[in-house]
Amino acid sequence: MRPLTIPEIRGAMVNATEAEIERMPMPGLHEVVWEDREYLGWRDPSAAHRGYLVYWRGDRAVGLVLRSATSPLRAGAAICSLCSTGQPGGQVTLFSAPRAGEAGRRGDSVGTYICADLSCSLLIRIAPRYFEQIGGSDEVLARKSHRLETRLDAFVSRVLQEA
Ligand SMILES: [Zn+2]
Repeated sequence: MRPLTIPEIRGAMVNATEAEIERMPMPGLHEVVWEDREYLGWRDPSAAHRGYLVYWRGDRAVGLVLRSATSPLRAGAAICSLCSTGQPGGQVTLFSAPRAGEAGRRGDSVGTYICADLSCSLLIRIAPRYFEQIGGSDEVLARKSHRLETRLDAFVSRVLQEA
C-alpha cells in the first residue's frame, strides 16, 4: 500500500468521534514496510478491546475504529474473514465496527472475524512459503493479496453503508 502519515491516518477515520480520534494511539510508522501491506492495523495497548485499521480505498485513505468481542472464541480453529488464514480460535476475534454517519450514532455496527492482532498482511506472506515447493509462490501471494483487498473493501462498504 502507499504510505500514510499520522495526519492522513487521523483524517481517514470514518466511524470515530472527534474524541475517539483524539485519544487514538498511533503506530510507529518508521517500522512499517508499506509495500508488504494491504492495510495497516494496530491494537490499542491501553484499551484491549480496541483496534484500528486504515487502508487506501482507491485514492482515498479510509480508517476504521474496531471493537473486539469481550469473550474470546472457543478453543479450536477459526478462519479470518479477511485473509482466510486458519488459526487457533484465540487468535481470531469478532470485531465490530460502528457504521459511519447517522447509523453509527444510533448504535448500528457491522461485525466480522479478523486476525486478533490485525496482521493479515504478515500472515499471507508467511503462509506462501509452504507453496514454494510446488512453485508459483508469487502468484499465490498476489492472489491472496487481491482477495484480502476485495474482502476488506466489502467490509468497509458495509461500514460506509454503500451496500
Ligand atoms: Zn487475517
